[in-house]
Amino acid sequence: VKKPHLIGEPLRFHQENDAIDPKQLIGEALHQRVEAVDHEMCDPGDEDTFYVADLGDVYRQHLRWKKNLPRVRPFYAVKCNPDRKVIKLLSALGTGFDCASKTEIELALSMGVKPESIIYAQPCKTNSYVRYVKAAGVKQMTFDNADELYKIAKLFPDAELFLRIMTDDESSLCRLSMKFGAAMDTTESLLALAKNLGLNVVGVSFHVGSGASDPMAFFKAVRDAHNVFQKARDYGFILRTLDVGGGFCGETFEAMAAVLDSALNEFFPPHSDVNIIAEPGRFYVYSAFTIACNIIARRTVEDPTLDGKGYMVYVNDGVYGNFSSIMFDHQNPVAKILRTGGRTLYNTPYANSVPAGEGVEYSVWGPTCDGIDRISESIRFDPVLDVGDWLYFEDMGAYTKCSATQFNGFSNSHDVIYVCSEPGAKALLEL
Ligand code: PLP
Repeated sequence: VKKPHLIGEPLRFHQENDAIDPKQLIGEALHQRVEAVDHEMCDPGDEDTFYVADLGDVYRQHLRWKKNLPRVRPFYAVKCNPDRKVIKLLSALGTGFDCASKTEIELALSMGVKPESIIYAQPCKTNSYVRYVKAAGVKQMTFDNADELYKIAKLFPDAELFLRIMTDDESSLCRLSMKFGAAMDTTESLLALAKNLGLNVVGVSFHVGSGASDPMAFFKAVRDAHNVFQKARDYGFILRTLDVGGGFCGETFEAMAAVLDSALNEFFPPHSDVNIIAEPGRFYVYSAFTIACNIIARRTVEDPTLDGKGYMVYVNDGVYGNFSSIMFDHQNPVAKILRTGGRTLYNTPYANSVPAGEGVEYSVWGPTCDGIDRISESIRFDPVLDVGDWLYFEDMGAYTKCSATQFNGFSNSHDVIYVCSEPGAKALLEL
């Protein structure tokens, strides 16, 4: 049983109406928590990894979305980070939800999300889940092959179907088109089959790949989707919705959105009366979550190539845990020093690594017995870090805790301390 002061604290909001500096808020939460851990006396688990999540960051991302893609209603991809407070906030902001399994759909429904604000965006669905969504009233779902159409005809003929087409996802971090999406030259036969089976095709969807970097991928996909809209008319379907999927990243969002917006205006102008939706995941949560890890062990490495001495430091989280994003999402989380020598260094220049030739060389490892469990091969810091010190990693909100395992008996359920740097989000969360 954890000591009360170490359990994830309830939502804290600043008192003033002005937005507070997010770093200050996050820093205070990190500091308070790590200061409470006495490494000489604490119980197992007290020094566990924890997150600080700034819901104000999620709120700001939504404003950014609305500014750049005003025509597009986001359906947040729950898979990316099924955090209940994120879902609550986004639901209050009016987003829908992209769910890919019964559990995700149950989660959204349990939080008051209306069935019509959910899309079951999984082209290859489990039979029993299709029966479940039918009973739950979740009608919107994607498909991309004939077998799936037969399945839907048998289990849920009234479903509202989106034909997911293949995209050029070469520029993305996580390619999806090798697994999902109908090739353009198969779309006509799929529409014909849907018609023969008496099914209800209502739209087209695509996904340019998670972590996409080429804005033209959106242009090509919107153009292809437009072709399918045209073809669908020949089979008697008047399609009403285009789903432009996910793939948006914080760094390139404005550039992506500009290309997407102009493609939408070209192929689906506002007077075409087509609803546009999207399934962003990473975009909403990536930068909102910071994780803190404790150094649990250190090994001194005597190596002349390391100017004498370096260290392997072992932290209590790794690639089998919240750093699963290294394996599954091709990320390179960057370690910073949170606390050493009794001082909290968050967001100070001393927290940052130093260039080659300066400071001390470290490699950073996870806690499991596996050799692949390494977070960082080489990073240099000025101070000499030791057991009990803390590191932190920013931008840990996407595809992290959702894919953490319990390998070797290490917990995959870590506290999240919520802060909120936006008064607008506070009002919504108190609904
Ligand atoms: N929609 C579908 C069908 C997906 O498979 C994914 C991610 O894999 C997403 C949305 C979310 O993508 P992203 O986090 O890149 O926005």
